Amino acid sequence: MSKKLFAFILFWMARNFKQLLSLFLIFVLSSRTGSNRDQSGSERSGYRFVILLVMNSLEFLGTGTSQGVPIIGCHCPVCQSTDFHDKRLRTSALVSTPGIRFVIDAGPDFRYQMLRAGVEDIDAILLTHPHRDHVGGLDDVRPFNYYQKRPMPVYGNAITLKALRTTIPYAFAEHRYPGAPEFSLYEVDDKPFRLGDLEIQPFEVLHYKLPITAYRIGPLVYVTDAKFVSRTAIEVMKGCKILVVNALRKEPHLSHFSLDEALALIGEVKPEQAYLTHLGHTLGYAETSAELPEHVHLAYDGLKIEF
Ligand SMILES: [Zn+2]
Ligand SMILES: [Zn+2]
Ligand SMILES: [Zn+2]
Repeated sequence: MSKKLFAFILFWMARNFKQLLSLFLIFVLSSRTGSNRDQSGSERSGYRFVILLVMNSLEFLGTGTSQGVPIIGCHCPVCQSTDFHDKRLRTSALVSTPGIRFVIDAGPDFRYQMLRAGVEDIDAILLTHPHRDHVGGLDDVRPFNYYQKRPMPVYGNAITLKALRTTIPYAFAEHRYPGAPEFSLYEVDDKPFRLGDLEIQPFEVLHYKLPITAYRIGPLVYVTDAKFVSRTAIEVMKGCKILVVNALRKEPHLSHFSLDEALALIGEVKPEQAYLTHLGHTLGYAETSAELPEHVHLAYDGLKIEF
């Protein structure tokens, strides 16, 4: 394959400047190192950078529990911390591949999260459940509706999609007000579905008594707001490389994993790396990180991982 064609593929697939820049550098380097090689050697170096193009990433847009951190009016050490790792918007994540970009949950900070992460287009929203801290920002899909000229595809289980009709009723009214947000709803259960170049396996976990949705995306598993996880769910998670899971605080809670419960799940699933999210204001980044096993990390807003 000619280098011009590789350059074209590179440009087409790169979704942001950083990725484009790194790929450009890889292209230049691979051209130089390939200059003394035979034709097949050059092709191999070309394929290497195309493989790098197809890296998938997850960016933590928010890692805080329902009130965010800091909590309004709270004077505890974590809420007063000046460490940027301790500033947590409501839990959400941005998944990007060369073929698709979507968010998991769109809570009250959705608008600011899109602006902060420089996101100008998304292909879908996957919802875990209809609590306000996960759906409260759905009204802010309006710019995406406008620029992308289509309703925003939203995925969630039956309970979640039904609840949206009361959470944001004007979007589903028979006679919608002009400019109201538009959604196309896709119900998920325990069957895998395709989104762009990804196969996504939804599975159920319990948030106290509420069945909510977790997602396996190839080698990555994303679980938030879980309290009980069935054997079936653990089997779905097993073999993953990266496990993202919620941990609210050290003390037990009715509907959220405590730190020890999250660590117990990590111990059972045995991912290569685990990231804790949906964190409360008693888990300071520095102190808590120092206590964690080497392969377990406290996620923080803006952290980007590849999978
Ligand atoms: Zn939540
Ligand atoms: Zn606090
Ligand atoms: Zn919740």
